Amino acid sequence: MQEPSYRTIIEPFRIHSVQPIRMTTRAAREEMLAAAGYNLFRLHAEDVIIDLLTDSGTGAMSAEQWAGIQRGDESYAGASSFFRFRDAVQNLFPFRHVLPTHQGRAAERILFSVVGGAGKVVPNNTHFDTTRANVEATGATAVDLPIPEALVPGLRHPFKGNMDVAALARLLEEQAGNVPVVFVTVTNNSGGGQPVSLANLREVREVCTRFGVPLFLDGCRFAENAWFVKVREPGYESVPVADIVREMASLADGMTMSAKKDPLANMGGWLALNDDDLAERCRRLEILTEGFPTYGGLAGRDLEAVAQGLSEAVDEVYLRYRIRSTEYLGEALEAAGVPVVVPFGGHAVFVDARALLAHIPPLEYPGQVLSCALYVEGGVRTSEIGTVMFGLHPDGSETPAAMDLVRLAIPRRTYTQSHIDYVIEVVTAVARDRQALKGMRIVDAPSALRHFSATFAPL
Ligand SMILES: *Cc1c(COP(=O)(O)O)cnc(C)c1O
Repeated sequence: MQEPSYRTIIEPFRIHSVQPIRMTTRAAREEMLAAAGYNLFRLHAEDVIIDLLTDSGTGAMSAEQWAGIQRGDESYAGASSFFRFRDAVQNLFPFRHVLPTHQGRAAERILFSVVGGAGKVVPNNTHFDTTRANVEATGATAVDLPIPEALVPGLRHPFKGNMDVAALARLLEEQAGNVPVVFVTVTNNSGGGQPVSLANLREVREVCTRFGVPLFLDGCRFAENAWFVKVREPGYESVPVADIVREMASLADGMTMSAKKDPLANMGGWLALNDDDLAERCRRLEILTEGFPTYGGLAGRDLEAVAQGLSEAVDEVYLRYRIRSTEYLGEALEAAGVPVVVPFGGHAVFVDARALLAHIPPLEYPGQVLSCALYVEGGVRTSEIGTVMFGLHPDGSETPAAMDLVRLAIPRRTYTQSHIDYVIEVVTAVARDRQALKGMRIVDAPSALRHFSATFAPL
């Protein structure tokens, strides 16, 4: 007999512990936003009703992860928690060396401090903000090489996260000797949470091998990427997600990772790689700033949470729910006529603020304007992924970013369908009244990663 199949894909968990949401009024939100300099990073989290700022470290841990917290071995060196962590990482990513770090950017800083420097060039399908900043902090240049389809928000392509392989080959030819590593980000977060196909990864691998340059993954959303491969790439329908992840790993020489994303932990990360000499140089730097290589800036209990989270991240019942719940939000916004990046990303839905607020030029930050309007309207916190984040260059010049997006990132296992239904109503209301929205200018900003602390004023 066949199992009955229903349309509704339910949350595959029960709620065990809850945190209250504090309701606020529109008038109060207007005041709090002004006091925060129109920068949502500067708000107090308790003044937010639905927090879609990021999916980083904001997920709900499982009972098994909390049990792991109790088991944490806090020995300074050689803690059993480290070995559980290392084995869980190597089970999916069998790289020879695994260096725990307090989060993803610490892995980036260590690696790029060793391989970066003036005159070096690092290509990536699209650098995440901290990745770009860590490349540039060493004096090296970060180059984004997405496929052209990735830059058209309304264009459907199953693997919009793919790298432009011909452009990569040209770059490696022109910059012979200057490229220490090629990066591929899975899924492509800044490019709309879009997946990379295994076919593309194989081609990138082939080019890297031809030019003798190592290939690293920025693996933050490896499980969501593997799910998309399973459902979209011919030949993978019946391959277990964990095996797809191992195949991705087998094409790379190493990875940087934030455990605050797919591994379902609130803190953590790692740098993993095969090259013994490079690993040794990275380890020396790790000891200098992160800690001894068996804890790397993390408590033993954090290592336990990551180890357990890794096995839950590749659970296909969870992934089906995870990807479907993001799609649910995307479909509703699309049906309401809100321009969104399609197909929908794994961890987030990206609204095309440049298209929605066509009356606001990119240098008046339509993404920032939209993010602020969503907060005032319904207390929904989102993040701008556009000209505020990527428009300022190391030489001080400013140009519009490739796209002006607003990311509605979905924390893992945290919000229910009715929370998302509320978000849909809020976004739809703001989109309907969009003509009343005005641009913004920057009042004050630092010269790198300015989106975190800049202050703005409405024009
Ligand atoms: C979050 C993220 C990082 C950085 O990780 P942190 O843990 O925030 O330091 C790097 N790359 C991508 C793609 C990310 O999403």
